[in-house]
Amino acid sequence: MIEQFRNAGYTVVDFTEPADICVINSCTVTARTDAETRRLIRRARRLNPEARIVATGCYAQVSPDDLSRMPEVDVVLGNMEKLDSTVLAQAAEDRVGDVAVETEIPPLSLTSFAEHTRAFLQVQNGCNTFCSYCIVPFARGRSRSVVPAEVLSGIRRLVDNGFREVVLTGIHLGAYGLDLSPASSLEELIRRILAETGLQRLRIGSVDPNEFSAELIALCADSPAICHHFHIPLQSGCDSVLQRMGRPYDSSFFSDLLNRLINAMPDAFIGSDIIAGFPGETDQEFEATCALIEALPFADLHVFPYSKRPKTKAATMPGHLNPVIINQRAAHLRARAARKKKQFLERAIGRELMVLGQQYDESAGIVRGISREYIQAEFPGTSKDINVEQRLMVTALREGRAVCRNPAG
Ligand code: SF4
Repeated sequence: MIEQFRNAGYTVVDFTEPADICVINSCTVTARTDAETRRLIRRARRLNPEARIVATGCYAQVSPDDLSRMPEVDVVLGNMEKLDSTVLAQAAEDRVGDVAVETEIPPLSLTSFAEHTRAFLQVQNGCNTFCSYCIVPFARGRSRSVVPAEVLSGIRRLVDNGFREVVLTGIHLGAYGLDLSPASSLEELIRRILAETGLQRLRIGSVDPNEFSAELIALCADSPAICHHFHIPLQSGCDSVLQRMGRPYDSSFFSDLLNRLINAMPDAFIGSDIIAGFPGETDQEFEATCALIEALPFADLHVFPYSKRPKTKAATMPGHLNPVIINQRAAHLRARAARKKKQFLERAIGRELMVLGQQYDESAGIVRGISREYIQAEFPGTSKDINVEQRLMVTALREGRAVCRNPAG
């Protein structure tokens, strides 16, 4: 959207600065993000009493009436309509199309956004899975992939512009290519990226456990360019809850996958998502999740307190838990996650990491960067170390970061 506005001659300013148009691009993954959107809209209106306030994104797509009712909002636009800056700037009335009928990603939605040294490239959008708790298929529509040729030329452009690392992202990345004709796959796309783009570091976004194939594991283990950092959503460690969630795997499948991954890449950082307090989750079911987490080699967990989303199957299930219990369980899981992360980082002490320099702190004479295993690192350096990847030895930990030095020095 920023790029569209800039191309149309607009100047994009910070949220707190005076503006003619304020676009609030919303998320609706939990009730909390909905509330945050409403708060931001009110704030935008206070900061810019005369501006045109546009509400768009996933919350606008799924619950346009919620936003349309707000006196601060001038116009509500859906996820397809937001791709056009003329519509964003001029549409006189609400427009929210049916994302469920979208079968293609328009060419512009090979979207990328960049930090200084890493670019994030969205190659897939939407999802067909309809897990019982999840609003995403309603907000983003069916799974659509960007054709491989376009992904490859996008990555070549990023490489030519000096990016060392590209992160492949998608809403349901494991479904990449299945909608294309001829059909493709994530494995095939990765193989072509490695062979045809000259990219130095490729990081793969979240892939569901049932889609993390043996071929993908072998590809990641064998390729020097693929970062050993994986995000594989578990959601629950209890089979009966997984079944109610509509997730197509069980806990033993997941354990087996993680063990195979770690056998192939012992240094891998494995992150996951867990939902605490799914409807009907008993103490025993919650304990099963805790036990599985303890047993598996996770480096990090994103814990989500269950949030009832309209239209989803879980919203009408019996046994919704008291929010106090949901939050207690989430806090318990987060404490476990913090312990797992600490253990993972402690194991890195004495090891060598390939660190990409990202930020130079001149006053401290320190460069901060990120390793292939997604470990935040710092080392003595200068501005010349920015956007350079180097092999460094971890000597200690400081505030969750690996303190490194040159292994020769
Ligand atoms: S949790 Fe993931 S796979 Fe399931 S419906 Fe949501 S986006 Fe799709």
